[in-house]
Amino acid sequence: MKDLKSLERLEESFNKLPSIGKRSAERLAYSILDMSNDDVDEFCNALKGVKNKIHVCPVCGAYTEDELCDICTDSSRDKSVLLVVSYPKDVISFEAMNTYRGLYHVLGGIISVQNGKSIDELNIPGLIERVKDSEVKEIIIATNPTIEGETTAIYLSKVLKDYVPNITRLAYGLQMGGTLDYTDSLTLAKAIEGRRKI
Ligand SMILES: [Zn+2]
Repeated sequence: MKDLKSLERLEESFNKLPSIGKRSAERLAYSILDMSNDDVDEFCNALKGVKNKIHVCPVCGAYTEDELCDICTDSSRDKSVLLVVSYPKDVISFEAMNTYRGLYHVLGGIISVQNGKSIDELNIPGLIERVKDSEVKEIIIATNPTIEGETTAIYLSKVLKDYVPNITRLAYGLQMGGTLDYTDSLTLAKAIEGRRKI
């Protein structure tokens, strides 16, 4: 049987998605063959729509389909607090909590020697510009609890300390339902650091 080139091409595209291996890519590609023309059209349009319509907010760096994101344009948000995250997706996680009412700033990555992200590639100048002479009283640094995340947090606290009175870091610690003997020493150290009065 001759190779089904168009199917192979589709498999390769699916294979580029995170956590989709060769087998799953093959299964997904075949499932497209069973779909109606209308559903396939809708699928193509949805893919293009995501790419064409969504961009990062020029103020905070969160994803939006409008000129500015709805967090930046919401006058009821607390403009004195800025939560700094690495990626636009992190904003969605915090928003899902429904309790944080401040604003955000997305760095677009973390400082990392390994995957080549340098300070210049992150949206740090934009952050400094934003907090300079602003009403921001607190910056909460919410980078991941990894070595790179820590490095980024320490760097940020140094460059921001002249502009903002309070710079805080998310408390990292013990996993709910976990046990102490299975907890690594970095997590334990952070848990002690982030202790609070009861
Ligand atoms: Zn925004």
